Amino acid sequence: MLSGYRLEVIVGCMSAGKSSELIRRIERARLAYLPTIIVRPITDTRSKPNHVESRNGLTSHALVVESARDILKYSSHAVVIGLDECQFFDDELIPVVQTLLRQKKKIIASGLDLDYKGETFGQVPTLMAMADRVDKLLAVCRKCGSDFACRTQRLVHSDEQILVGDCQYEARCIHCFEPPGEYQLRLELPLAETNPPQLAIVQGPATAATVAS
Ligand SMILES: [Zn+2]
Repeated sequence: MLSGYRLEVIVGCMSAGKSSELIRRIERARLAYLPTIIVRPITDTRSKPNHVESRNGLTSHALVVESARDILKYSSHAVVIGLDECQFFDDELIPVVQTLLRQKKKIIASGLDLDYKGETFGQVPTLMAMADRVDKLLAVCRKCGSDFACRTQRLVHSDEQILVGDCQYEARCIHCFEPPGEYQLRLELPLAETNPPQLAIVQGPATAATVAS
């Protein structure tokens, strides 16, 4: 039986290094001859078929499944199980993870904790609550260059929660993150040369100055 952490969760925004950290931890287990697998949902199309791929070029073989239930089909011989892009797994992920934990397996799960709106994404928050170790990785903000990017800014118009493609997103810190409504509004309606509305607050008898506009 393995000692130490049993459910490790790696979260963060895009470009924070989640997949490379997942691959690093799985490779570390492989060096100790522990049987490992990495599983990812079919929704993630960034990686090559049957691989998990990080943006810095690390790759590892991965099983691609259509539903979270399918993880159990491949996990019987594995001792350490990596789950990548967990935000795209269906709701069955949680009972599947509970089953794997009862089977005394070690799980290392990674995924986006927040979607493009800055709202919680899929089953990842529940995994974080269940985990005995959570690492929230930060990226470098593409707008201001700070080391504290924790939001994924969508750069195109779409109200779909899932829209796969690196060029449609960038990592932003919380100060530079623009919620989609505000961002799309700015794109559609570039600032016009209008004077701000004049506001006169009248207390007591109006004077010439307060009603001048
Ligand atoms: Zn920033």
